[in-house]
Amino acid sequence: MTNEQHGFSTRAIHAGSEPDPRTGAVTPAIYQTSTYKQDGVGGFREGYEYSRSANPTRTALETCLAAIEGGSRGFAFASGLAAEDTLMRAVLQPGDHMIIPTDAYGGTFRLVDKVVKRWGVDYSLAKVGQADAIRGEIRPGVTKLIWIETPTNPLLGIADIAAVAQVAHEVGALLVVDNTFASSYLQQPLALGADVVMHSTTKYAGGHSDVVGGALVVGEGKDELAETVAFHQNSLGAVAGPMDSWLVLRGLKTLAVRMEAHCNNAEKVVEYLQSRKDVTNIYYPGLESHPGHDIAAKQMKRFGGMISFQLDGGEQNAVDAIGRTKVWTLGESLGGVESLIEHPARMTHASVRGTELEVPADLIRLSVGIEDVDDLIADLDQALR
Ligand SMILES: *Cc1c(COP(=O)(O)O)cnc(C)c1O
Repeated sequence: MTNEQHGFSTRAIHAGSEPDPRTGAVTPAIYQTSTYKQDGVGGFREGYEYSRSANPTRTALETCLAAIEGGSRGFAFASGLAAEDTLMRAVLQPGDHMIIPTDAYGGTFRLVDKVVKRWGVDYSLAKVGQADAIRGEIRPGVTKLIWIETPTNPLLGIADIAAVAQVAHEVGALLVVDNTFASSYLQQPLALGADVVMHSTTKYAGGHSDVVGGALVVGEGKDELAETVAFHQNSLGAVAGPMDSWLVLRGLKTLAVRMEAHCNNAEKVVEYLQSRKDVTNIYYPGLESHPGHDIAAKQMKRFGGMISFQLDGGEQNAVDAIGRTKVWTLGESLGGVESLIEHPARMTHASVRGTELEVPADLIRLSVGIEDVDDLIADLDQALR
């Protein structure tokens, strides 16, 4: 058994993963089952009756998620967006209002703007870096949810979680933090006052680009909220399957060592980029010149594995450079052991061209993996020319 006094990795490795009492197996089984034998009508064992409602492999993951985020209950979903959708439907009613970041993850913006809004929920955009900007969008009595990401994608904007939590709680709104970019290891939003943490476990939590998943973790002492989320998880049914739960759980066990390696490599890549005259702007919260640096230093253990930068020479030059990499894989997503490179304006953020969420055309985004950093830098060097 683990407890809150144990360190992060002890919890990540053991919480939810007790050795099997029957066989001694140290790794939780993949319970690839939809249903469970009942000992007489209604006599189900340990609460398992049907795998949408609960499955032991998913329970193992959900226990681990709650333990590593310092929350009361974890919930695992089929994707990050399934987690988001479930939470929004659990806590919002027609007529309510929510606030989301101007540079929210594109899928979050689409969910809110194209789906949730149709059900009568209004929203406003606010710059996450400014708690005052968020305060300015509050509609007293109507704003029920404040949604932030920090760092944001792809410009690595930083929100002050504790300051935004205070703004939210002054008006009785919930604060949800999308902790995907930082990971549970680098940042603990519940301890800073957030009510719910959300993850795309597809990214750092899974860590190996082999699974799509999502998670919600509800903070301590919020039993009613946790019950509401549990009810909606079962009612909407977008749950993580046993195999996917197992993959994410396995990923979490090495999260700390992977994140340290991602951070080490990212810092060296930033140093390399700083040495280049054709790199005009580097977005990395570890840089003192980054506007969110002080807040990031306060609320993050280290600064993460994501870097964006602008390359002199315009859009086509950036696109050409990206196409020349050999060790870096050209692709969307992030957070895996392998390094990925992409062009946000044409790829992940193509849908926000011409809106206030538009990103610079010469921007390149890196998800720095954990390969040998010299190989990563040499490959960037030949690609950038
Ligand atoms: C990928 C991502 C999501 C969405 O998660 P999916 O698993 O792709 O559904 C949400 N937020 C952030 C920050 C992401 O990077």
